[in-house]
Amino acid sequence: MNYADAFKASVAKVRAEGRYRVFANLRRAKGEFPRAHWRTEDGDVRDVVVWCSNDYLGMGQSPCVVGAMKQAIEDVGAGAGGTRNISGTTNYHVELEASLADLHQKEAALLFTSGYIANQATLATLGKILPGLVIFSDALNHASMIEGIKGAKCEKHVWRHNDVEHLESLLLQTPLDAPKLIALESVYSMDGDIGPLEAVCDLADKYNALTYLDEVHAVGLYGLRGGGVAERDGLMQRFDIIEGTLGKAYGVMGGYIAADAVIVDAIRSSAPGFIFTTSLAPALAAGARASVEFLKTSHHLREAHQARAAELKQRFAEAGLPVMDSKTHIVPLHVGDPVLCKRMTDSLLVDHGIYVQPINYPTVPMGAERMRLTPTPLHDEAMVEDLISAMTAVYREHAAAKLA
Ligand SMILES: *Cc1c(COP(=O)(O)O)cnc(C)c1O
Repeated sequence: MNYADAFKASVAKVRAEGRYRVFANLRRAKGEFPRAHWRTEDGDVRDVVVWCSNDYLGMGQSPCVVGAMKQAIEDVGAGAGGTRNISGTTNYHVELEASLADLHQKEAALLFTSGYIANQATLATLGKILPGLVIFSDALNHASMIEGIKGAKCEKHVWRHNDVEHLESLLLQTPLDAPKLIALESVYSMDGDIGPLEAVCDLADKYNALTYLDEVHAVGLYGLRGGGVAERDGLMQRFDIIEGTLGKAYGVMGGYIAADAVIVDAIRSSAPGFIFTTSLAPALAAGARASVEFLKTSHHLREAHQARAAELKQRFAEAGLPVMDSKTHIVPLHVGDPVLCKRMTDSLLVDHGIYVQPINYPTVPMGAERMRLTPTPLHDEAMVEDLISAMTAVYREHAAAKLA
């Protein structure tokens, strides 16, 4: 086999489908977010406003978070120096896990190096711990959950997105005494809709299933203390396992699950993705804990965030732009073509200093290509004005013919 040709062909296919990815080289300046400096391919540096960050509240530059990380580095140095079992557990990890267990009102929490690994490792391991497990997974669950469920090597059923009747019909076809797990997200981050949390809990009670909730795009943002949509809706106790990230609203890095102590103990003892990897750097754990604790009492920031998102949706609608229906802080604008989507976001960046990443297949289905905007409380009125006029111009120039 000619290996180089095989790799080239693989990339050529991606290019031909208009979804070749180019990473924008950004330099955030602490204190200036959502402004950042963009380094072009020619090496020029230009000021841009970032409209697609998952650092939803700007916690990545918060003095309390940055201060905690600096202090931790001063105190204990850079890395953890080992896996959790072999010299890599520190007080920073233990305290962060306690903070997360408290956030979700669970007995325990377990840290992973990312939210992706938390999902992948936990779901795969549940399949090994529970013989005969049958997993019921929402059709739009994140890639990390899909990988975990594949790794669980058990029977699985995919229920149509947010369709609890379909879910129930699948549950009915499964023996009542078979162990079952229902897995879903609270906030689906591409459409900005919310899973049917309460109905799923009711079905789980009726059919004796475990419940697994990915709150990655909700932790820090929903609920009185940032515990997510399940906290907001009074449902945290009804979910057996809640999974979250420290890399989005919390502005740092890492992932976790929160659950009964016995569940956490079982995953901790069996999940390769937890056991065989160096634990999070102490500074990351320190920064994440500062962020989680800060946001437990910063309800005003959550309200400002929601207000900003609501305003942006309304402004887009008033400007006649194709804003998609969203129940959350996510603001998607429909494009429907990968090449056009890329051309429009290139124009926003180059001509208007506005950075929005195109969202193409496989992140969303083909034909559902879009721009996904994530307003923060740090985007001010002038930035919103600039965005509306730039977006209007770009749609007029590039998309009008196509969308008409
Ligand atoms: C981003 C994301 C993850 C992964 O979290 P990371 O901490 O970024 O690895 C998991 N689930 C969902 C729904 C996500 O959007």
